[in-house]
This record gives sequence, C-alpha cells and structure tokens, in this order.
Amino acid sequence: MLNETHAPGLTSWVASANQPGCDFPLQNLPHGVFRRRGTGEAFRGGVAIGDQILDMAQAYATGMFEGAAAKAARLAGAPALNGLMALGPASWSALRLALSRALRENAVEAEALRPCLVPQSEVEYAVAAQIGDYTDFYTSIDHARNVGRLVRPDDPISPNFQWMPIAYHGRGSSIGVSGQTYRRPMGQAMPPGATTPVYGPCARLDYELELGIFVGPGNAQGEQITLPEAEQHIFGICLLNDWSARDIQFWELVPLGPFLGKNFCTTLSPWIVTLEALAPYRQAWERPVNEPQPLAYLESPANRAQGAIDISLEVWLDTQKSRDDRSGPTRLSHTSFKHQYWTPAQMLTHHTVGGCNLNPGDLLGSGTISGPGAAGEAGAIIELTKAGREPLTLNNGEQRGFLHDGDAVTLRGWCEAPGKARIGFGECRGTVLPALSR
Ligand code: MN
Repeated sequence: MLNETHAPGLTSWVASANQPGCDFPLQNLPHGVFRRRGTGEAFRGGVAIGDQILDMAQAYATGMFEGAAAKAARLAGAPALNGLMALGPASWSALRLALSRALRENAVEAEALRPCLVPQSEVEYAVAAQIGDYTDFYTSIDHARNVGRLVRPDDPISPNFQWMPIAYHGRGSSIGVSGQTYRRPMGQAMPPGATTPVYGPCARLDYELELGIFVGPGNAQGEQITLPEAEQHIFGICLLNDWSARDIQFWELVPLGPFLGKNFCTTLSPWIVTLEALAPYRQAWERPVNEPQPLAYLESPANRAQGAIDISLEVWLDTQKSRDDRSGPTRLSHTSFKHQYWTPAQMLTHHTVGGCNLNPGDLLGSGTISGPGAAGEAGAIIELTKAGREPLTLNNGEQRGFLHDGDAVTLRGWCEAPGKARIGFGECRGTVLPALSR
C-alpha cells in the first residue's frame, strides 16, 4: 500500500537526502543504533536521512511527536529497538508519516530538529536490537543447486527444498555490525582423500550474501502466525553476511547440520529498512507451474501478488594488497532478491507452524542469495570459484579461491526504478583477521 510518504517527488530540508544516488532519501527513513565515535556516549536509536542521522532520543525530547507517533518515537531512540519492533505496523507507520512531514522541505519542525542531526561520518554503530534468537534459512534454489552440484552432482537439490523453507537455528552471540573484524576460525576438517581429520585454522573461509529480517510483534508459544498475517510481524530488513567455514562445515554437517562452520561470526548492516519503505518495490512471487506448488499453509493471494521484493545486491572484496596499492575493491557478484524461492512471509510462517514462539528483535537470515544467471550472480565464493578450483582474478591481479587474512567483504543493497525514489541499505563490511594459533 502506497501513501504520501512514498511520493517520489518529496524532498527534504536535509540537502544531502536529495542527491541522486543517495541511499537514504526522505522516502527511506531506516532505523539504527549509534553514538558519536570515540566518545563514551550512550548508544541510542536514530533514523538515517541523507548523510546525517536524526538522533531519535533528542528528537523525541523536543516534544514534537503526538499520539501513536510519540510512543514509537520514544522507543526509536532507545539503545535497542526491541520495544519499537514490538509495537507493530500501525505505530511504525505513524512514526514514518510524522518523520516524513517533519523532515520535508519547508517543514516548520526544521528549526527544532536541525540540532538533532549527527553526521554519519562521525558515528559508530551497534546491532540495532537485542537478538534473542537467530535462524538462518536456505531459500535460494540457485544457491542450493550451485552448492549441491559440488557435493552431489547427480542430485543437487534435496527433496524437501521445493516444499518448505529450509533453516537451522543459528547463534546470536557472535552477531556484530558493519565494521566488524573477527579471527579466522579454528576447527576440525577432513582434508580430501584423508582418513583422519585435522585441527587447525579454516582453509576454506567464505562469505554469504543474505538479507536479515527483523521480527516485530511475536506470537505466544503454541500459536501460529499464518501467512496472511506474517508481514504484520516483520519490522524490516538489513544486509547480512553469514560468514562460513566451508571445510569445517562440510565435515561436521551430517547428521545435525551447521555448527562451528557458521557460529563464529555474522555481520549486519547498521540500518534496518522498514517493509513500508520497500512497498514500491514489491513484485509478484511466482512458482513455475512444472514445480511443486506450496502446501496450503504456505500459500496466499497476497503472497502471490506481491510477496517478492526487487532488491539489487552486490558483493565487493578488497584485500590488504589492494588497500596498500590503492587498486580498489573488486565487485565479485551482483543479483536481486526477487529470485528467492521462498518469501520472508513464508519463512516466518513456516517457523511458527509447529508452535515455536518468535519475539520482537529475533533475526531471520534469508539464506544465501544467488541469482539464476551467469556465475557472477552467485552469493558465495564457493560457488564463484567451484569450491576453489577456478580462482577469481581481482582488479590488481591477485587470485582468490577462498578468503585470505586481511580480506574485507562489503555487501551493498538498494532498490531503484524509474519514477520511484531509491531505497538504499547502506553497506555491510567485515574483515578477516589471522587465526589464533592454538
Ligand atoms: Mn547462510
């Protein structure tokens, strides 16, 4: 549903928000948590506008918000956004409308709000919610096919994949925000042809291009969230890098699934883009007629009509050498989320169908996002390099089969189309440090 906040012609008195190509125009208004870098200030919630952040704790204190928007504005300034997430779409929408009007060109609120702006270049971010539980899905059929071919060339797609959104329960404690660094994980792996596993630093370190879906209002244990209700329980979406230790993962995977291969680090972008901001980029969700159609609990007219979201995504790599020689980052891949086999609403509904309760601030990973096209649409390096057998050549001539120490991976995402405002996600960056040697 589009409303006045989506009008493409709207401009802001924050001039940088009106620049072509800006990720955070007036039509976006994503939420995050920040403080001025290098200060002991408390973290608090803010809303991105242009190259600035509207400090929501300070903005609330001006007294300019009323009614449902005021309650939402207070919680949008908190050091974790779980309270805002718990409110639900009517409150989120009331706050969005109030912010859209107050940040609009010629708004009378400009004078009161100008002192509440903090330049994004001067801040550090925190994970925007206290994430109680994190679940990682596996919902790109092209990713499943590409990785499946490496493991099971004759039968790459497991028989359940086309019938339900596959997932495993992940680890919340090691989730960090863009700028995160982490040590290459240690663990067990079975080298090809060996009969005894070795313990040591991961030799096949990878990234995964994903979206993170933050849960809004939850459900009581034993209650289900049906598909028609599901989007009322989704607060918004960010970029997510599900770093993966492939050698550790493939040795431990059978019979219970990923463990140390996945739990050492997950990196999120700082800004959560609301579903309402993404409304202009919704698309029909299609399931080819010659493939299994969803069971009834995973089927709804609204999900068919607009379950998909056209979000452009890119993965960039820079290395210690490329930073030293200033050759710049290399773009490894680009695709869109519109190709995903299952929608966020189907993931959320499937998660609760057995009675599992979700809480505000829980995080769902979409699963690696790979497109159907050429190899350049794959969302993990294991796919791009055929498990390291066909290394990539970077801008400066360096080669990569998997990630080296010092490598930094940056994810970017945005929605853009003629006649619509660009809705950007900013970036999600993380850097690999050398392993501990014990
Ligand atoms: Mn993943």
